[in-house]
Amino acid sequence: MTHFRQNTDSRQRPAVLKDTLLFLCNRLAEHFGPLHWWPADSPFEVVIGAFLTQNTAWRNVELAIAALKKTIPLTPQALCALQRQDLEELIRPAGFFRQKAQRLQLFATCLLEKHQGDLDAMLSGPLSQVRQTLLTFKGIGPETADSILLYAGHRPSFVVDAYTRRLFKRYGVLEGDETYEDIRALFMAHLPRQVDLFNEYHALIVEQCKTFCRKRPLCENCPLQPECPVLL
Ligand code: SF4
Repeated sequence: MTHFRQNTDSRQRPAVLKDTLLFLCNRLAEHFGPLHWWPADSPFEVVIGAFLTQNTAWRNVELAIAALKKTIPLTPQALCALQRQDLEELIRPAGFFRQKAQRLQLFATCLLEKHQGDLDAMLSGPLSQVRQTLLTFKGIGPETADSILLYAGHRPSFVVDAYTRRLFKRYGVLEGDETYEDIRALFMAHLPRQVDLFNEYHALIVEQCKTFCRKRPLCENCPLQPECPVLL
């Protein structure tokens, strides 16, 4: 099991934010074990998944990606070569399929034209600059940009989502009205900038919020229950 170094006894909730964040990550890692995110066979498949997962459940994305994989290799070239209507039909299970098809093909076209289809090249360079460029694409907001950077580009850009906000508000780290950028900046400032850590931490937050810290939390068996202020 991956264990991320923290400066405190792993059984007591620490007072320093950096240690609290690592403590929480380690506690979740102990409980859930390695999660091996993102579930994809290639970085470009991660990008496709990051577009498709917007406003839908992951199982719908899996259906859309399976349909795509039966039809084409998941490359920017093959994606651009598809007729728009065919692409729309293939990704229909993921919802908003017309909009998503258009945005995927726009992204793939730019990747081909500016970087000869080389995703690594597109995602290399100063992190903040690459992130800003991603944010100029239709359909790429901060969460999608950070997912692409972290899981496709292996760049240390922390991914924030609704689960992150819920868990850390309940755990007393967030007030709940912070912006996406505020929350991302907090994690970026207080955690070592390690891709493995950011990768695993985001996956653990999602797992924790699907299993225990749901909208109606199941606190009784939660691995964070001993220190969680909700119950103190
Ligand atoms: S104890 Fe309850 S509120 Fe706290 S993290 Fe666990 S499930 Fe969420």
